[in-house]
Amino acid sequence: MSRIPGSRIKNVLDVASWRLCVGCGACACACSKDRITLVDIPEDGIRPHLDEKACDECGKCVEVCPGYATIHPPGCGTGGSDAGFREDFGPVLEIWEGYAGDGEIRYHGSSGGITSALALYCMEKEGMPGTLHTGADPDIPWKNRTVFSTTRNDLLFRTGSRYSPASPCDGLRRIESSTGPCVFIGKPCDVVGTRMSQTVRNGLDRNIGLKIAFFCAGTPSTSGLLALLNHHNVEPGSVEEIRFRGKGWPGNFTVKTHDGGCRTTEMSYMESWGFLQRYRPYRCHLCPDGTGEFADLSCGDPWYREITEDEPGHSLVVVRTERGRRILRSAEEAGYVHLKRLDPGKLVDSQINLLGKRRAIFGRLLAMRLFGLPIPKLVGFSLFENWRKLPLKEKVRSTVGTARRIIIRRYYRKLNFS
Ligand SMILES: Cc1cc2nc3c(=O)[nH]c(=O)nc-3n(C[C@H](O)[C@H](O)[C@H](O)COP(=O)(O)OP(=O)(O)OC[C@H]3O[C@@H](n4cnc5c(N)ncnc54)[C@H](O)[C@@H]3O)c2cc1C
Ligand code: SF4
Ligand code: SF4
Ligand code: SF4
Repeated sequence: MSRIPGSRIKNVLDVASWRLCVGCGACACACSKDRITLVDIPEDGIRPHLDEKACDECGKCVEVCPGYATIHPPGCGTGGSDAGFREDFGPVLEIWEGYAGDGEIRYHGSSGGITSALALYCMEKEGMPGTLHTGADPDIPWKNRTVFSTTRNDLLFRTGSRYSPASPCDGLRRIESSTGPCVFIGKPCDVVGTRMSQTVRNGLDRNIGLKIAFFCAGTPSTSGLLALLNHHNVEPGSVEEIRFRGKGWPGNFTVKTHDGGCRTTEMSYMESWGFLQRYRPYRCHLCPDGTGEFADLSCGDPWYREITEDEPGHSLVVVRTERGRRILRSAEEAGYVHLKRLDPGKLVDSQINLLGKRRAIFGRLLAMRLFGLPIPKLVGFSLFENWRKLPLKEKVRSTVGTARRIIIRRYYRKLNFS
């Protein structure tokens, strides 16, 4: 039975074919018949592949899919948080700026290493057996792999953002089979995939101890990374290690190779992100949740001010839930993180681009509707109210620009993944 009667979406192959997939990997764990495998489509991202003849259209994979639907429960974020912030950034209980107490984690982390430091606190002091997240693939170091870290050194080794496809929800069964509640770290859409999987799997729900998201403006595709390597005349096969940033704030894009000796190529974070961001898939331009609204805690860069040269890293932390509030406070008391309270306006100043994107989404979806295309179900993001705040010229641009893109790039046609 299809989950959406009369809809063109009967399974996640349809989600991906209509360019709605965000590549989280949750569907691969949801299919009890193990019909789904995940494939990295270089121009697009990690996408589900399945043999349609073997699929009975039970709809379980669509039920957990954040690409198809991302829905805030009714009334969420209205108690205690500033209504203005709810409209712009979802439920916000508190906003902090800080950094990891462990100097090595702070140095290697993307911004202040807070994400890894909180995971470490949960493992060492809250009795959580491990953290499901993302690291470099040891066999193909320019690719990513879902990993389950159980020690400080595991976490330290896997600090740092990786601006290329990763699907941490494909490891949710590892959390489900764990001996106790664990930490999950991922992009906002990965956290939604986890949360939706929790609603249909009791064992997983029991074993999610803390969900941490980081802010996200979009994941560049593998083609983007390969183009960047090519720009530096680096053969992918010769790559020993890639760091997209970290080792200082914001750090550099660094590639170590072993082609006849050893060489290191560097590019500033700003330049490399400027290069890579052109390769973000269209679905990321329809994503209203840039700041991890479904997590317990979400972390990002405090871009509201200039960073001075050689300044040690800082992270911005948004508390989303009571569980997040308790754990952040306890981690501070135990010295795992150092924090100072931040004026909520600094969140807007830090992430003005993410807010700009959220404001354009209603217009973009309108254009898709006009072409009769399936659109993601996005509930509780005040998309119309946000769109109304745009000047007229921007409103028109959000719709007409998308319509042009649909025509020029032929988005009115399904992709063929078979
Ligand atoms: C694709 C992408 C886009 C981003 N866009 C923004 C933005 O617009 N604004 C902003 O302020 N911050 C953005 N960030 C987040 C920012 O780069 C830092 O991750 C954030 O500030 C947290 O830093 P930290 O030092 O606390 O994290 P760390 O302690 O360094 O931990 C980083 C964690 O992220 C996980 N991780 C790394 N790459 C991925 C990935 N691709 N998918 C899933 N998990 C991953 C690692 O496993 C690690 O657990 C983005 C990150 C990514 C990966
Ligand atoms: S619809 Fe059901 S059987 Fe088909 S891929 Fe999804 S979960 Fe598996
Ligand atoms: S569950 Fe995740 S990976 Fe699977 S189709 Fe949906 S968005 Fe894509
Ligand atoms: S922009 Fe949104 S959909 Fe795209 S990777 Fe980031 S959180 Fe996921």
